[in-house]
Amino acid sequence: MREEGLKKLGRFLPHAGRNYAQGRNFVPGVVSGLSPYVRHRLITETEVIGTVLQKHSFQEAEKFIQEICWRTYWKGWLEMRPSVWSEYLEVLQSLKIQMQEEPDLKDRVQSVENAGTGIGCMDDWANELRKTGYLHNHVRMWFASIWVHTLRLPWQLGADFFMRHLLDGDPASNTLSWRWVCGLQTQGKIYGATAENIECFTEGRYTPRGLLSQEAPIMRESFTNHPPRPLALPDQHVSGEKTLLLVTEEDLYPEDWGIPQSDVSGIVLLETTKAYPGIAALPVAWKSNALEETAARLTDEFQCSVLRLQGGEESTPARLHTLLREHGALSLSVMIPPVGPTLSVIDRVLRELANEGIALRKLRRPWDGAFWPHATHGFFKFKEQIPAVLKQLSCIP
Ligand SMILES: Cc1cc2nc3c(=O)[nH]c(=O)nc-3n(C[C@H](O)[C@H](O)[C@H](O)COP(=O)(O)OP(=O)(O)OC[C@H]3O[C@@H](n4cnc5c(N)ncnc54)[C@H](O)[C@@H]3O)c2cc1C
Repeated sequence: MREEGLKKLGRFLPHAGRNYAQGRNFVPGVVSGLSPYVRHRLITETEVIGTVLQKHSFQEAEKFIQEICWRTYWKGWLEMRPSVWSEYLEVLQSLKIQMQEEPDLKDRVQSVENAGTGIGCMDDWANELRKTGYLHNHVRMWFASIWVHTLRLPWQLGADFFMRHLLDGDPASNTLSWRWVCGLQTQGKIYGATAENIECFTEGRYTPRGLLSQEAPIMRESFTNHPPRPLALPDQHVSGEKTLLLVTEEDLYPEDWGIPQSDVSGIVLLETTKAYPGIAALPVAWKSNALEETAARLTDEFQCSVLRLQGGEESTPARLHTLLREHGALSLSVMIPPVGPTLSVIDRVLRELANEGIALRKLRRPWDGAFWPHATHGFFKFKEQIPAVLKQLSCIP
């Protein structure tokens, strides 16, 4: 899968400059299709941008680089406001109960998910999502806008539909993009799809004139609802220390964690794919394939055993404890997952191991460490920092 991602990057490379800037908003347009690989860190942002800058100048590739950094921005923003994610899960759970009690709400949601709204583009996009696990960015914006503003359905149910079906389903990019469409991210500013915009950027394929709402109520919340918290300080690998690597689907490229092969005494791949409730068969199969190929690659790369464990099981901490002893490891090293279902699983496991006195090395990639502290306000402020941070990370001279 990493190979597949790198090949995709290679094919897209000639288009990452001005072509992308001019064609990215059209559907299908000029886009990379790299998100499932970057989202699971089968390939990293540093690799993508490094490769792109070998072919294009920073100015030519600026738009593409900024898009890559949108994911980083959303992740950093949510990392400092984890209550946005927990609130989303709570509201979603109560909406699902409400759907059982109110058949009308359930019918309306199912008619969108099952492509029965009668709005041609919406129905096609719902089918495309279920069938391929992918939607173009502009389509995601239109879909979310029609879901919220025209069909007047709760945004959390739409975000959940995406999370269950996208191959790149990402707690930060997804939840915060849906909130952005509602006006909750940029206070007072909503995103409203128009028939003209859809017609223009689908080059006449869809003309939903007269079908879309012209007005949308702006949702508001108080800034004090989600007070930011400081980012936790990461640990560093202790050179020479034998360690057991704990790998999750949030970062499937531990060769790049800065831990030399000689310090790795074993590897555990912890599966958390089903930690998000109701995830569909297509993303489950994609992730399972990614984990399987990662296990095979790591066995070769690190010349040690790679064991797959189920994250949610009660016996997992005890199993890890035994493995640490068997491998003669002095610590457990994990790339701490960003806010989301995998983190919830890992947190429980690590808490139990810490209580047993196991030394934990909670790592963070330099990319996240350098960018996240800038995700305090809107993206426009964040993006001004991109050249300086890329210099700091030696991605540009
Ligand atoms: C309502 C909504 C929900 C979304 N949900 C997700 C999600 O769950 N997971 C996800 O990865 N992206 C999400 N996005 C962002 C974006 O739509 C996808 O990352 C993008 O469409 C992926 O396709 P691509 O790789 O061909 O993009 P390209 O245009 O080729 O972009 C290159 C890379 O930049 C990043 N990127 C591009 N646009 C965005 C963006 N707006 N936000 C964050 N990263 C971006 C991705 O890593 C992408 O692979 C969502 C956007 C919206 C509007």
